[in-house]
Amino acid sequence: MNGFQPFGVSPEILKAIADMGFEEPSPIQKEAIPKILAGLDVIGQAQTGTGKTAAFGIPIVERVDPDRSEVQALVLTPTRELAIQVSGEIRRIAKYKKVKALPVYGGQSIGHQIRALRLGVHVVIGTPGRLIDHIERGTLRLDGVRILVLDEADEMLDMGFIEDIERILKALPTERQTLLFSATMPEEIRRLAARYMKHPETVKVTRETVTAPSIEQVYYKVLEKNKVDALCRILDTEETELGIIFCRTKKGVDELTEQLQARGYLVDALHGDLSQAQRDKVMADFRSGRIEYLIATDVAARGLDISNVSHVINFDIPQDPESYVHRIGRTGRAGKKGIAITLVTPREMKQLRVIEQVAKTKIQPRSLPTAEETNE
Ligand code: ADP
Ligand code: MG
Repeated sequence: MNGFQPFGVSPEILKAIADMGFEEPSPIQKEAIPKILAGLDVIGQAQTGTGKTAAFGIPIVERVDPDRSEVQALVLTPTRELAIQVSGEIRRIAKYKKVKALPVYGGQSIGHQIRALRLGVHVVIGTPGRLIDHIERGTLRLDGVRILVLDEADEMLDMGFIEDIERILKALPTERQTLLFSATMPEEIRRLAARYMKHPETVKVTRETVTAPSIEQVYYKVLEKNKVDALCRILDTEETELGIIFCRTKKGVDELTEQLQARGYLVDALHGDLSQAQRDKVMADFRSGRIEYLIATDVAARGLDISNVSHVINFDIPQDPESYVHRIGRTGRAGKKGIAITLVTPREMKQLRVIEQVAKTKIQPRSLPTAEETNE
């Protein structure tokens, strides 16, 4: 017996979930799915990698009527990669139903999206900017939308999408169900919820720490000028399946990528200045293991769900604790083990302590195999 049976969703969905290898609902799914199926507005808060996508994806596929050829559910995501990912998961859940999902994001030909929308789509998953573009052109009709999802809401606000989000919310029918998912609940999100949701039920699954327990967290203390050498020694000693290396800026990403490629490491850069085709190629190379490490900015790596990421390396320490939580959430997904490594210069030690305090986590010190050059 499958652990999803008690939700009472249709057999087609149960079969699809079984194909996906899901046996038991995750805690957030267990709590949120019945409420969403009942038509309530729900705020779902849980750490990254806890299955928030299926928590709204399953009820959406259940509640959408495939015989009505109109967009009935709209999902807003912060990035194009996430739009593609969420759309993929909804399509897998809808495998045995005639529910059609389409990702709509900037960087892809709008003509292609317009044609796809015209063919009839039930669930649209998109980034705010491109959705507004379609709404203004009249190529995306919203009068049939009964379910709206704000996915990774904290990340969308961090990226400055608040005005776009409000414009979309105002363009939607008021008779609708609104769902909001987020790893954190800053004040700005509470305000958004208060303004646009109807008596929302909050479903909160947090453990003692905000960071997933399956992630080992360590730091190396290194001098600024020795960071690249230190990183190389770490890369040489770690058993890595796939890894993401974070830098503060796009320029930093490009420079580090060049240096590591020159030393023969299988790495490539992911940041916002790449064309969509370049990003797609980098992601495909990464997923298939042709490159071992993705070197990225925070924004480029938002919400990415790649199950085999064993290592997250903070080449530059994150600017704030929430960014730390988001970054390391790229590993240790779906119960797999992961390690998060942070390089810290002596004057950044204070920042590390702040991260530990706010994220309620403990980051263990480690020393490099031969410490000489990297010690103070
Ligand atoms: P979140 O949005 O909370 O960060 P995701 O929805 O991206 O997390 O899910 C993380 C991973 O866990 C995905 O690969 C997803 O397919 C998988 N997953 C989700 N729910 C389950 C489940 N009940 N059983 C097994 N794997 C699951
Ligand atoms: Mg998510």
